[in-house]
Amino acid sequence: MTNQYVYAFSEGSAEMRSTLGGKGANLAEMTAIGLRVPPGFTISTQSCIRYQQERALWPELLEDVQHAIGEVERELNKGFGNKQSPLLVSVRSGAVISMPGMMDTILNLGLTDETVIGLRETTQDARFAYDSYRRFIQMFADVALGVPRVRFELELERLKEREGVEADTEISAEGLRGLIDTYKTIVEEEYGSPFPQDPTTQLHQAIEAVFRSWDNPRARVYRDLNGIDHNLGTAVTVQSMVFGNKGPTSGTGVAFTRDPSTGKAALFGEFLLNAQGEDVVAGIRTPKPIAELANSMPEVHREFVETAALLEQHYRDMQDIEFTIEDGTLYFLQTRSGKRTAMAAVRVAVDLVNEGMITRNEALKRVEPAHIDQLLHPTFNPDALAKATVLASGLPASPGAATGGAFFSAAAVLEANERGEKAILVRAETSPEDIEGMVAAQGVLTARGGMTSHAAVVARGMGTCCVAGCADIHVDEVAKTFTINGKTFGEGTKISLDGSTGKVYAGLVETKLPELGDSFDILMGWADEARRLGVRANADNPVDAERAVAFGAEGIGLCRTEHMFFEENRIAAVRRMILAGSAEERTAALAELLPHQRSDFVGIFEAMGGRPVTIRLLDPPLHEFLPHGESEIADLASSMGIDVSVLETRIRQLEEFNPMLGHRGCRLAVTHPAIYRMQVRAILEAAVQVVASGHAVDPEIMIPLVTSETELAWVKEEIADEIALVFAELETTIPVKIGTMIETPRAAITAKAIAHEAEFFSFGTNDLTQMTFGFSRDDSGPFISAYLDEGILDISPFESIDQTGVGELVRTAVADGRETNPDIKLGICGEHGGDPASITFFNTIGLDYVSCSPWRVCVARLAAAQATLN
Ligand code: PEP
Ligand code: MG
Repeated sequence: MTNQYVYAFSEGSAEMRSTLGGKGANLAEMTAIGLRVPPGFTISTQSCIRYQQERALWPELLEDVQHAIGEVERELNKGFGNKQSPLLVSVRSGAVISMPGMMDTILNLGLTDETVIGLRETTQDARFAYDSYRRFIQMFADVALGVPRVRFELELERLKEREGVEADTEISAEGLRGLIDTYKTIVEEEYGSPFPQDPTTQLHQAIEAVFRSWDNPRARVYRDLNGIDHNLGTAVTVQSMVFGNKGPTSGTGVAFTRDPSTGKAALFGEFLLNAQGEDVVAGIRTPKPIAELANSMPEVHREFVETAALLEQHYRDMQDIEFTIEDGTLYFLQTRSGKRTAMAAVRVAVDLVNEGMITRNEALKRVEPAHIDQLLHPTFNPDALAKATVLASGLPASPGAATGGAFFSAAAVLEANERGEKAILVRAETSPEDIEGMVAAQGVLTARGGMTSHAAVVARGMGTCCVAGCADIHVDEVAKTFTINGKTFGEGTKISLDGSTGKVYAGLVETKLPELGDSFDILMGWADEARRLGVRANADNPVDAERAVAFGAEGIGLCRTEHMFFEENRIAAVRRMILAGSAEERTAALAELLPHQRSDFVGIFEAMGGRPVTIRLLDPPLHEFLPHGESEIADLASSMGIDVSVLETRIRQLEEFNPMLGHRGCRLAVTHPAIYRMQVRAILEAAVQVVASGHAVDPEIMIPLVTSETELAWVKEEIADEIALVFAELETTIPVKIGTMIETPRAAITAKAIAHEAEFFSFGTNDLTQMTFGFSRDDSGPFISAYLDEGILDISPFESIDQTGVGELVRTAVADGRETNPDIKLGICGEHGGDPASITFFNTIGLDYVSCSPWRVCVARLAAAQATLN
């Protein structure tokens, strides 16, 4: 171990983080690149550890500090304690791993009764000088001498009262001068000796205080919480203060090397002459665009432009730079990667590749998948959002920003649209009949339901903004009102939904739609080259299928056929089929549905142009299709030619206590094989028709909710029989695969056997999560929120795959399935297929593809690329 305790900025580099702390290493790096950083030095983290043992500063350290201060004095031509040209420094903590706000900082150290006069003269600003001094006394006394801060704050309040002002900035210079005397008296009373007037004594006491702050209770708790080693210690960085308020050739500003909102490659920033950093932030004076610096100080401007370019080259990213000009000399206070919008993130990443600064793979890692999500959906104007009133909060079920009047039924939404009004569908929960309203609405708000509830799944599939499970809201669909905290709102009340945060706002908050631009397509092309995982889409109709292809999907991983039954002209036949009194009646209702199904599949096959299409046979909990309310039941009874009471009895017989674990999925095929036979016929007739018209098809028939090999074999036999019949009738054949969903824990555990009967597995992680946790997909919202609040869960398992539990089932089923059938195709089609963290996991365990809503296909392409690159 070396016994060097103190490192000048010019002696370090970014690699020396463990010795210099994050801040010290960063300043050293900036100095090494040749930036003019206000000079200073860093005391090593190892010194902090030694201090913890000895509880005093040792002579070699004090000598080194003395020497380092001397260097700074020479470089700046200022002196510690010098009346005319005082050197002032900041003393800051700097941990190896950032611990924001946990340790202490002291600014303007070196101010004394004498040097404050020097500061007043050089800045020609008495108010500023006295304010800096009184702040320093307060900070130093609090941190280094342990004087309670409240005593100073009380005096400050009293002074403001005496002067009749509200803000600190309005206090007079004379008032501040008097306050300094009062502060010094407080120090003497509380600390027992006078406020130190020797800058070197101040510095030693400040260094000790920062070392001690490593061990203060809040820092200890923070380290425990974040798993940070207590033996790392903090570095102490001592840096000269520079002043931008020393006259017309001084100033301060902030600049980005590119436009952080659009990504355009041009310097973007602001500055103020004769001002301190606080003046820029406070907004009292309006800063000028950075280009105007060329008028007032052309040399400084040129230096700034050159250095900005140098910094980008060095850090190979857009930088956010803070600078100060003191007497015509430009100093760099900080540089870091600049925060940017989604649009800028994509453009900057692609431009940096084109400029030869980074590789394509680096560019792919620079863009967050969430950025892509934002780009595809409208967002709120951030300024407007900041001013908006939050009415309630629910689950962020489908991203986007929606504004409009609140309407409580699909019909009311459609009527509002006809009147030219934007509408938001507000429901206790949505059901199949709401589908048209959901299509027509700007957004959907439900009081009940979770992240995989009907509303959430359908809204995500359509790319419609949705806030689900908003328990703060009580919806009365009959009275056409919703109530929040006892306040009731009527039909047409203007609201705004943020589907990315789950917040509901009062009124119409302004929205904007980002433009995609060429960079987006370029980046997506690179993602496709980099990724191993295939990306498919969940789509149930030709429009979604086309959209999926446009977003780059390589096939359909899940076509939920029950959604095809929801449409206006079909739901009656579906209900007649479910509630039929005899096999003949059921056959007749199915015959009505067949042409509809066939034409759906024709449209989808055509849209997919020969790409694989996985069609899942019917899987509804039957109750989703049952008619509600007297008039629906009466209409249905009359269309079936039966008595209402007879129909009501049949409905009651189908009602289930626990529909999600009831009569659904392939169980339906065991009790009513004709349904799956009709669907298989529709699929194959459609496929043959599309092939006859000269297009390719690649159909995959998927059986849902399977629990055993025997069950799958039974259903497959029915299907195979129908396939043979259709091919015989049409006198042709086409290749068709038959596979299954793995979405019950038993199926996952017995995957080795099930794979004998399946050409592919598609993991239904929505149901698999529901059944593995025993958490209802539709009812778990409220307690999952509590689990998140209490830290029992980090994230809802319906949002991001639970890798240790549900994920483990998937992992073993993947391995077991491949053992039986090495050629088996393996995908996932639950909502997790669009979640970046889950995609990384699925990549690791060797799935072949993920399938997600068309709107998340681009997110998945990027996340899949990142999964491969990492
Ligand atoms: C699933 O369970 O993950 C799945 C994709 O099927 P559904 O959401 O339709 O139940
Ligand atoms: Mg399922």
